Amino acid sequence: MKIYADHAATTKLDFDAFEAMKPFLLEEYGNASEPYSFARSAKTALKTARETIAGCINAEPDEIIFTSGGTESDNWALKSSVLVPDERRGIITSRIEHHAILNTCLAIREMGYPVQYLPTDNKGIVHPESLELCNMDAVRLVSVMLANNEIGTIQPVKKLCEIAHSRGALFHTDAVQAVGHIPVDVKELGVDMLSASAHKFNGPKGIGFLYLKKGIELASYANGGAQEFGKRAGTENVASIAGMAAALEKNCRMIHENARHLYNLEEMFLDSLNKTGIRYIRNGSDNRIPGNMSLSFENSEGEMLLHRLDLMGICVSTGSACDSQNTQISHVLQAIHVPEQYAKGTIRISLGRDNTEEDVRTIALALSKILKG
Ligand code: PLP
Repeated sequence: MKIYADHAATTKLDFDAFEAMKPFLLEEYGNASEPYSFARSAKTALKTARETIAGCINAEPDEIIFTSGGTESDNWALKSSVLVPDERRGIITSRIEHHAILNTCLAIREMGYPVQYLPTDNKGIVHPESLELCNMDAVRLVSVMLANNEIGTIQPVKKLCEIAHSRGALFHTDAVQAVGHIPVDVKELGVDMLSASAHKFNGPKGIGFLYLKKGIELASYANGGAQEFGKRAGTENVASIAGMAAALEKNCRMIHENARHLYNLEEMFLDSLNKTGIRYIRNGSDNRIPGNMSLSFENSEGEMLLHRLDLMGICVSTGSACDSQNTQISHVLQAIHVPEQYAKGTIRISLGRDNTEEDVRTIALALSKILKG
């Protein structure tokens, strides 16, 4: 038996996405930059994928730049923003970003540019008032994620973005956990840049995109050929791009149906868990991405739970990791101040569209066996 409940880490490739990729791996392998007719199919696939993806987030096709995934899009958006010659080169971000942002910010600080960190409340919400309070005279970019990977909290990005713009800064959002799971409309949000990654929405791994609003100046990610509007050189990964577009189109088409299914599973799982009388806290705000459940169990160890569940064929992830001496609590759980006797016992169950009612009942039963002995 295997129950996969770690969809915030990665997802299974959608079968239609796989079918969309196949021709470009086996038959239509021409280099999209070449002028001969054998390259035409690859060229058309890139154009179609760009249009499909743009349609899914209400962008224009030439605002979509293909990258290798969320990490690259985040690095590019942040580092290139401070490299543009400008008086303003500071960054503001939040304390609960993914390490693709936080470690990029560390690198930016080492380059000599200032970084400020916004706090969250104990639900993981970055309040617009905290941005209002910042000195933004030297800030070029504000970057706050749309949905958090550990606790699922959805941020008030539209409001944060309005404040950034009113103070002369650009706005980037890491939407890796959101795109394909909740409706995302870049025009409605008002963002200048947005990162996404295909393997989080049933696309292939190692491919993603950066939405870059028309007119926003960003230093090139890689110099070389003229691919991706001269902003990211390198022969395009046509098969993966076609797979990403197919996966995103399908997930967006089924977004409400998938969300309903996941919220039902969550409810069923929590009902089963509550009947056991086990003491736990569910982390995050009520406004969360569907399927993401960060649970902190009293006087337990997340890593122990992960390994015991693994032995029972269940894959989840943890919010705390033990080294030989200490239990390390993730920066997100620390930022939202989960009480210590709970924080150490945190796991993240992230359900996906293929999970069933039987899966969630089995996970609840497994947790009850482990925690109640
Ligand atoms: N940002 C967030 C919020 C994520 O959850 C992840 C992956 O876990 C990333 C960025 C990195 O994306 P990728 O794996 O495509 O590099």
